[in-house]
Amino acid sequence: MNPISDLPNIAALGAIDRAHLIHPVSAWRTHEQRGPTVLSSGRGAWLTDGEGRELLDGFAGLWCVNVGYGQESVVQAAAEQMRQLPYATGYFHYSSEPAIRLAEKLVQITPASLTRVYLTLGGSEAVDAAVRFIVQYYNAIGKPAKKHFIALERGYHGSSSTGAGLTALPAFHRGFDLPLPTQHYIPSPNPYRHAEGATNPQAVIDASVAALRAKVAELGADSVAAFFCEPIQGSGGVIVPPKGWLKAMREAARELDILFVVDEVITGFGRTGPMFACEAEGVEPDLMTMAKGLTSGYVPMGATMLSEKVYAGIADGAPPGVSVGHGATYSAHPVGAAVALEVLRLYQEGGVLAQGQRGALHFAAGLDALRSHPLVGDARHRGLLGALELVSDKASKAGFDPALGLADRIAAAAYRNGVVFRAFADNILGFAPALIFSEGEFVELFARVKKTLDEVL
Ligand code: PMP
Repeated sequence: MNPISDLPNIAALGAIDRAHLIHPVSAWRTHEQRGPTVLSSGRGAWLTDGEGRELLDGFAGLWCVNVGYGQESVVQAAAEQMRQLPYATGYFHYSSEPAIRLAEKLVQITPASLTRVYLTLGGSEAVDAAVRFIVQYYNAIGKPAKKHFIALERGYHGSSSTGAGLTALPAFHRGFDLPLPTQHYIPSPNPYRHAEGATNPQAVIDASVAALRAKVAELGADSVAAFFCEPIQGSGGVIVPPKGWLKAMREAARELDILFVVDEVITGFGRTGPMFACEAEGVEPDLMTMAKGLTSGYVPMGATMLSEKVYAGIADGAPPGVSVGHGATYSAHPVGAAVALEVLRLYQEGGVLAQGQRGALHFAAGLDALRSHPLVGDARHRGLLGALELVSDKASKAGFDPALGLADRIAAAAYRNGVVFRAFADNILGFAPALIFSEGEFVELFARVKKTLDEVL
C-alpha cells in the first residue's frame, strides 16, 4: 500500500473511516462530516498524506517520533525480533532477552534512584501501574490510609480511568464521577499567567510549593500517597515552569513524606534536551513513567520505574504468594523492547540526542522571533518542546473567545501550507519537532507558521 498510486481511492477510504472507525478524542459527528486526515508515508521529518501532500511534521506525530520517520535500523530490529521470537509475556515469570536488556539499559540511563522496571503498553498503562504500585506499597508497609494523590491542574496522565482522573481536563472526566475522591489538584506553575511570572520566577515556584503543602495539610499528612507531575505540562498547553521548579517540588514531597512521581511520557528521551527532564535539575524521583520516545512511536511501549525503596516495600511487605495484580498480555513485549533498544542506540551512539540539543537552538530562535507577531502573547520552550499562546490583546493577555476555535483554524490553515503542529484549547499552538530536524527544516517550519499566522490576522 505504500506508493500513493497503490492507495485505494482516498475519498472512498475516508468514507469507510467515517462510517466505521471511531476516533474517540475527536468530536464524533464533526469527524463524520470532516474527517479523517489519512497519512500514507513518512521520511525523516516529513509526512505524505493520502492526497500526495508533503507535510513538515512539527509535532513528531503525537510528541513521539523523536528519531524521525523511516529509520531503517529500527525497522530491521523489529523484523529480526519478529522472526526470532515475536511474543513472550512479562505477565507471569516468562521473559525475553530484549526485555531484560531494555530493563538494564533503562536503569543505566535514568536517575540513580530508579532500579526496577515494569514494561507497559504505553503511557496510560505506565501511569495506571504507578498508581497501583504506590497503593500496594503503602498497604504493604502498613500505611493503608495513604491513598490520596495530588496532581496539577492542566496535567495529562492518560485516558485509562485512573490516569483520566489524574488528568485535570474536563473532557476526560465527564460522566465518570472523576476525579475519584482520592484525586486532587493544585494550580499549574504557569509563568505567563502568574502576576510575577515574568520578573520573579521564584514566586511561581514558591506558589506551587505552598499549594502542595496546603493541599497535604487539608487532606491530612497521613492520608496523602504521592504527588504526580509532568516536568513540563504537555497536553495542558506546554506549560514550562521556571528552572528549579521540579527540584523544589521534589524536596517538598520529601519533607511532606509523600512519594514523588515524574511523568516523563512526553519530556523523556531528549525532548527537553537531556535524556530525561529530571536530569537537568538533578532530581531523583521515587517513580517515573515513560512511553512515546522510548520506541519513538514505531511500536507501542512504555515503562514504569520504581525506586528500590518502593519495590522492596511491596516485595517484602505483601503477604507471601500474593501478587500485585497488574499486568497485560503484551507486558514486556519483545518486539517493543527490541525497537526500544535500537531507538536508544540511535539517541546515544547514533548521535540523535546531541542533534536534538543542537536543533533546540534553532527551535528557540524560531519561536522567540514569533514573539513580536501581533497575535502572539507568549512564546515558550525548553529543548524541542514549545508553544505559542495567542492573545487578542498583548497588554491584558486576553485570549480569543474559545468559540472562535482560532487555534484549530490556524492548524487547519497550516496543514494547507504543508506544516503540522498541535492546536490546543485556550488559543495555544504546540510544537514538538523530531530530534533529527535540520537547520533548514527549522527555517521552513517557522516560515510556514509565520505565513499561516499572517494569513489569519
Ligand atoms: N502521560 C503523559 C504526560 C502524556 O502526555 C500521555 C499521552 N499524551 C500519557 C501519559 C498517556 O500515554 P499514552 O497515550 O501512551 O497512553
